[in-house]
Amino acid sequence: MRIVFIGPPGAGKGTQSLRLAEKLGIKHLSTGDVLREARELGTPLGLQASGYLDQGQLVPDDVVVQLVAERLGGGDCQRGYLFDGFPRTLPQAEALDKLLQEHGGQPLDLAVEFVIAEEELMNRLWKRGRSDDKEETVRERLRIYADLTKPLAAYYEQRGMLRRIDAVGALEEVFARLWDAVESVRP
Ligand code: AMP
Repeated sequence: MRIVFIGPPGAGKGTQSLRLAEKLGIKHLSTGDVLREARELGTPLGLQASGYLDQGQLVPDDVVVQLVAERLGGGDCQRGYLFDGFPRTLPQAEALDKLLQEHGGQPLDLAVEFVIAEEELMNRLWKRGRSDDKEETVRERLRIYADLTKPLAAYYEQRGMLRRIDAVGALEEVFARLWDAVESVRP
C-alpha cells in the first residue's frame, strides 16, 4: 500500500506511522527524520536544511522532492510505503503524483488526516521538548501547517483518497481508528 499522513506537528503521526508501517510490512519514511539525521551528519543536504529546521520553516520543495525521489527508486519501497510529513505543500503533492506515474503508475491508496485542536497540540509540544519545539517556532510551524499543508486534505478528498481520524486519545485508540481507515481502502 501507498499511504501519506497529513497532520500538524504534535498530532502523533510519527509514533502511529512507525507502528502502521511495521504492521503492513511497508517502508516508513519521515522526511523530518531524514533531514534531522542529515544535519547531524553534516551532509550537504543537512547543511542546506539546517536553518529551515531551526526556524520551523519548510525546507524548499525541490530539495524535499529530490530526497523522496531518490528513496522511491530504492528496492525497499517496492512493497509500498508510508510517508510521514510528506507532502506538505501543494507543489509537493503534485510532484509526488508525477513521481508515482514514473514509478509504475500506481496512485496512492490512502491519505490520512490527523484531526486535533490547536490547544491540545501546544500542550503536547511543550512536553516533547525537541529543539524546534520552542514557543515561537511551534506557533510558526502551526501557522505554516494551516496555510500550506492542511489544504492538501481537500486535494486528496477530491481524489477520494482521504480519511480523517480523531488524533486525540490513547495510542491504542488512535491506532484502532487508523487501522479502520486502512481497512476501508484495502483491496
Ligand atoms: P517533522 O519531523 O515532520 O515535524 O519535520 C520537521 C521539520 O523538517 C519541518 O519543520 C521542516 O523544517 C522540515 N520538513 C520535514 N518534512 C518536510 C517537507 N515535506 N517539506 C518541507 N520541509 C519539511
